[in-house]
Amino acid sequence: TGPVLSIRNLSVTYRIANEDFPAVSDVNLDLAAGERIGIVGESGSGKSTLALALMRLHKHPARIASGSVTIGGTDLLSLGKEPLRRFRWDRVSMIPQGAMNSLNPVTTVRRQMTDTIRAHTRELSKRDINARIEDLLERVGLDRGVADLYPHELSGGMKQRVCIALAIVLEPQLIIADEPTSALDVVVQRRVIETLKDVQSQLGAAMILIGHDMGLMAQSVDRLAVMYAGRLVDDAPIRDFFHDPQHPYSRLLIDSLPSPDELKPLTGIPGMQPGLGRLPDGCPFHPRCPNAAEVCRNIDPPLELSGPSRRAACHMVAAARAGRNFEEVTG
Ligand code: SF4
Ligand code: MG
Repeated sequence: TGPVLSIRNLSVTYRIANEDFPAVSDVNLDLAAGERIGIVGESGSGKSTLALALMRLHKHPARIASGSVTIGGTDLLSLGKEPLRRFRWDRVSMIPQGAMNSLNPVTTVRRQMTDTIRAHTRELSKRDINARIEDLLERVGLDRGVADLYPHELSGGMKQRVCIALAIVLEPQLIIADEPTSALDVVVQRRVIETLKDVQSQLGAAMILIGHDMGLMAQSVDRLAVMYAGRLVDDAPIRDFFHDPQHPYSRLLIDSLPSPDELKPLTGIPGMQPGLGRLPDGCPFHPRCPNAAEVCRNIDPPLELSGPSRRAACHMVAAARAGRNFEEVTG
């Protein structure tokens, strides 16, 4: 069986005043059933835009400029309005950023879950639906009595669990979670992520976890990918990523962590990420890169295989892999 998710040359642009600014550039990524990938990057790196595009939930002025996205064998970009509506939640679901605030404040948990189920299937009786809801609540670690509560009666962690239950209501093949726990305290965060991992692996769904918390990522995913200025610049199995980082940006991210177990957002790197439409020539990271050489200022490095099951977009990494001396290459 092929990958559950297959992204090919995906670019998303923001069209502002008749000009296209790249937000996501030429992303290629495959994800297998049951696999968990983390995507990290500073804010504005394109990770949320990428996540939204994978459900075609990106908003104007963002638009998918090119490429393809295949989920469970279906070409996402070819779907019309109604098939797309059915596709969402059923095949791919999202726990959005600030999900806890996305719950409707004036309806009970039961009502919201019922609406989501009913929007996709007419066959279930009321009793079946209620049994399903109670089972889902228990799977995410909540008491079934939570079904009859309103969002304001729930703690942040409970709301987040309800969002997870909603995301798996129709047993999707792919779950996308965009900083699902960022508003919660550390202990609650870890427990909620554990629950998310449990339900995801029970379903055998693939998962994309978006965030900037390297400590949480280290405990949560099989693979970690890094976005910088709209590009995927690094993608490695989690152990390799932390024990043998290749891309200079990833090295800096890891060096800026106080210890692997401590939580810290990505703030410790000098310089700024270039803004939309202000990309420098060559490697977009070169103004901040401690290893930058002449070639880096002129040629944009492609994301390419840099070891077993890993990729990096960096001239220095490519030179090392080819057994060439980086300084000579740049000479
Ligand atoms: Fe640094 Fe050059 Fe690699 Fe870019 S290509 S990350 S500037 S060494
Ligand atoms: Mg975001």
